[in-house]
Amino acid sequence: MDAAPDIDAVAGESVVVIGGGFGGLSTACYLADAGAEVTLLEKNEQLGGRASRLEADGFRFDMGPSWYLMPDVFERFFGHFDRSPEEYYTLTHLDPHYRVFWKDGDRVDVLPDMAHNRELFEAYEPGAGDALDAYLEDAERTYEIGMEHFVYEDRPRLRDYVDRDVLRYSWGLSLLGKMQGHVEGYFDHPKLQQLMQYTLVFLGGSPTNTPALYNLMSHVDFNMGVYYPDGGVGAVVDGIVELAEELGVEFVTDAEVTDIEGRYGAFAVDTAGGDRYLADVVVSNADYAHTEQELLPERKRQYTQEYWESRTYAPSAFLLYLGVEGDVEELAHHTLVLPTRWEEHFAQIFDEPAWPDDPAYYLCVPSETDETVAPDGHSNLFALVPIAPGLEDTPELRAEYRDLVLDDIAENTGTELRDRIVFEETFCVADFADRYNSYDGSALGLAHTLRQTSLFRPPHRSSAVDGLYFTGATTTPGIGVPMCLISGGLTAERVADTI
Ligand SMILES: Cc1cc2nc3c(=O)[nH]c(=O)nc-3n(C[C@H](O)[C@H](O)[C@H](O)COP(=O)(O)OP(=O)(O)OC[C@H]3O[C@@H](n4cnc5c(N)ncnc54)[C@H](O)[C@@H]3O)c2cc1C
Repeated sequence: MDAAPDIDAVAGESVVVIGGGFGGLSTACYLADAGAEVTLLEKNEQLGGRASRLEADGFRFDMGPSWYLMPDVFERFFGHFDRSPEEYYTLTHLDPHYRVFWKDGDRVDVLPDMAHNRELFEAYEPGAGDALDAYLEDAERTYEIGMEHFVYEDRPRLRDYVDRDVLRYSWGLSLLGKMQGHVEGYFDHPKLQQLMQYTLVFLGGSPTNTPALYNLMSHVDFNMGVYYPDGGVGAVVDGIVELAEELGVEFVTDAEVTDIEGRYGAFAVDTAGGDRYLADVVVSNADYAHTEQELLPERKRQYTQEYWESRTYAPSAFLLYLGVEGDVEELAHHTLVLPTRWEEHFAQIFDEPAWPDDPAYYLCVPSETDETVAPDGHSNLFALVPIAPGLEDTPELRAEYRDLVLDDIAENTGTELRDRIVFEETFCVADFADRYNSYDGSALGLAHTLRQTSLFRPPHRSSAVDGLYFTGATTTPGIGVPMCLISGGLTAERVADTI
């Protein structure tokens, strides 16, 4: 995607966007800005998709994304419309970036201060401070090449890779190996390996199924920093919705699409409420498999049910939202709690699906940074345990697991929550399927395994229905809020190129 993609060819077209996640919102902005008449239909009562908000008893929770990473991507997105993120929301640079508790009693903070991080690494392994510098230099190079040549530029066909620049960087070969091997090349200490690999959970992968090119995530977290949008990630959703409205996008919530009929220039999109929307072009940000398998007749699908069943899905999640009395000072805004050996947890996600016995999990405490998200004298936090998609999810299993997680938090972080909980709610596999129509209740969609990266992800443009396009985490570049914003731009370009 060029800095200023040329999508003016869409001027005057009527477009229905299905789904108001970041991919849908972004596509709507690009197309409306280029002169299309855009109506966005969202199934739920609020916009933002997986970045929905839960508000109750004076607490406000981001239900999904909570790490604001890659600020450059947001600047480039708003910059396309001659705006800047600061016109819509305010960022705080978090310090520490995050805290890690290992279950052997060890604890570290990763800070914006790189001198501190180097010393931290050196303390675990002589020479690891220098190795960290070398690793991050490599990660920065991967980020720069990767973003320009693969992330902002869509390469939907194999022949697009036969490009001198791309070959010259011979970027692929060593980075197509697994993350585990790549990290072992720099660090021996298992805890340092974990610090370089935990970001893979953002991509829905594990160290043994994700290609090493995603070492770029360490550049994102160590060098670029971890930010918090005041008010939470919901404030970013509000900002983009405000921008979209300024550009002329019409929003309809509580509008679940049930059917897509027709083709370019003559689409009819029906909703469960009995409304029908006519459009020249349709862009679906709803789950890709749901759109193909449930909204289109069989002859208009690009993929079979077997295709979707044979994919590797990113984890689902067990989420426990808690409003508690008092402080939780042992926890940072972002806290990870990790077993010293986490192979078994990954195996229970990808190989032998089961509720993890000894989970690796994440705790988010936005009230550490933002006093507007909890009533006075209270804290707002959530626990997120990645679990296998499609796992059996019953009220009894959730209740058992809630107790296991609360015990684990008390034992490993010294934070006893049980007697001071004033609000609680869970969200799990069945809710992902129900609220977002997510395949198998995955939290994130298609994992970034090598065979599901770049041109191996499903395309932005349907080859079966002229005028139908897709955007969001299942397409390229993939999972995560910044990637979905970029995906919206790529989809808009594809619409302009092919209508
Ligand atoms: C728990 C969790 C934590 C995460 N943490 C982070 C993080 O810290 N940082 C980060 O960058 N990313 C994070 N992510 C990933 C990120 O949130 C997602 O990759 C991204 O938000 C997905 O956006 P999307 O465009 O694919 O659309 P989605 O968010 O999936 O939205 C799709 C929309 O389509 C709607 N829809 C579905 N079916 C229909 C229909 N038939 N009719 C109308 N509408 C329909 C859905 O209701 C939904 O609103 C997290 C995700 C989760 C779940």
